[in-house]
Amino acid sequence: MRSDLSQPVHPEETIVALATPNGVGAIGVIRLSGYDAINIANRVFKGKDLSKQASHTIHLGHIVDGDMILDEVLVSLFVGPRSYTRENVVEISCHGSNYILESIIKLLIKSGARSAKPGEFTLRAFLNGQLDLSQAEAVADLIASNSKASQQVALQQLRGGFSNQLQSLRAQLVQFASLVELELDFSEEDVEFANRDQLKQLVHDTTIVIGSLIRSFELGNVIKQGVNTVIAGRPNAGKSTLLNALLNEERAIVSHIPGTTRDTIEEVLNINGINFRMVDTAGIREATDAIEQIGVQRTMEKIDQSALLVYVFDALQITAEELNSDIESLQRPGVTMLVVANKIDLLSEDQLTAISPDAILISAKEKQHIDELKQKIYHAAVKQQLTGDETLVTNIRHLEALQKTEEALVRVLNGIDTYITSDFLAMDIKQALHYLGEITGAVTTDDLLENIFSKFCIGK
Ligand code: GDP
Repeated sequence: MRSDLSQPVHPEETIVALATPNGVGAIGVIRLSGYDAINIANRVFKGKDLSKQASHTIHLGHIVDGDMILDEVLVSLFVGPRSYTRENVVEISCHGSNYILESIIKLLIKSGARSAKPGEFTLRAFLNGQLDLSQAEAVADLIASNSKASQQVALQQLRGGFSNQLQSLRAQLVQFASLVELELDFSEEDVEFANRDQLKQLVHDTTIVIGSLIRSFELGNVIKQGVNTVIAGRPNAGKSTLLNALLNEERAIVSHIPGTTRDTIEEVLNINGINFRMVDTAGIREATDAIEQIGVQRTMEKIDQSALLVYVFDALQITAEELNSDIESLQRPGVTMLVVANKIDLLSEDQLTAISPDAILISAKEKQHIDELKQKIYHAAVKQQLTGDETLVTNIRHLEALQKTEEALVRVLNGIDTYITSDFLAMDIKQALHYLGEITGAVTTDDLLENIFSKFCIGK
């Protein structure tokens, strides 16, 4: 039911791009895909006749421009449909000089290929049925993944875990939709082909699955994007020292002059495979000079934009009133706050027991209880046990489509309860199917494809 494909596959147009990053590396890989990929490579390759070689074989030879040898290369052949795009694909592994790579790409273009657009290889894989849309998006996520957890979620999506779940829901709904539609043909006779109780049960079960996928987005997003985390507290509380202790490196500038961490510093801390983007801020207090005022304002803005706030206080210096007033003024809806008492190395036993039981006790300087704090930070963001094979929604486009599916399904349920006519019921079921189909690409539009694939890098 693919509608309106703006970008039909033109396998007769062979595309070419550098598949490895720009810049100098030991090797660089140039990729060709299309009906003529092997013939075009053959025109510039000296060694053997590539058109006579079997699929999934590698060949050593030279790329030549007329009489001039450009490089000694290895050519990998993938004869369609046994390739990433399902077209003929050739990958040329060259020496990683920019000059060589550019010259070979120019030569391939002169020999009949054209430059690939961003994401065009994966677009072709999608249009040729190798991947569905959510799997194609997972390719981009996998390339962008920068933590163990984000890599695993993307891999799970690429393997089709998410798609399979949606496809089976969709298949059952399609069956019901067609039965309800059949009733329309017999509208005079008042028949019901689609058993309303069964339909209700199915829609009910489907909304439960959809609901749990919608709820998984919170965690999915944490895994994919990381967690914006702010470290805040009064000047000299030990924020910068704590950031260093967490990162286990000397990064932020530590000083004993209050208010020296004027601007914000951002570092990524990985705890159990999840990225926490840590922002160390200028101290909160009544700012006296102009620069510091900006810093304080920025702290408040940063807290508003974050999911997690680590509020640090100097356990020796702060009074109970100051502590309460800080906690109260920093509380924000939707921002989880961890209260951390620092400098416990300077406290007596009595002073230690006097600290609020809600606070996490640490010494940033002496690196006491830093691992415990890390685990508390992790559990503040990840509230369930992660196995690595759960289906999580990580993509905002999927979330929106699922929400719209859920709304349509609720209309179906209400419709059954209020005995609405088959035509309206069929319309709501079709709406739900439409939104589910948007996720896997069973229903696509030009804009949607353009939007998704233009964000890919060239060569993917
Ligand atoms: P910030 O202004 O909150 O970033 O505070 P800093 O990290 O710059 O620390 C202020 C001062 O407190 C520095 O002299 C640190 O060495 C000291 N400090 C930080 N943490 C501790 C701690 O756990 N114990 C002790 N004794 N001193 C600390």
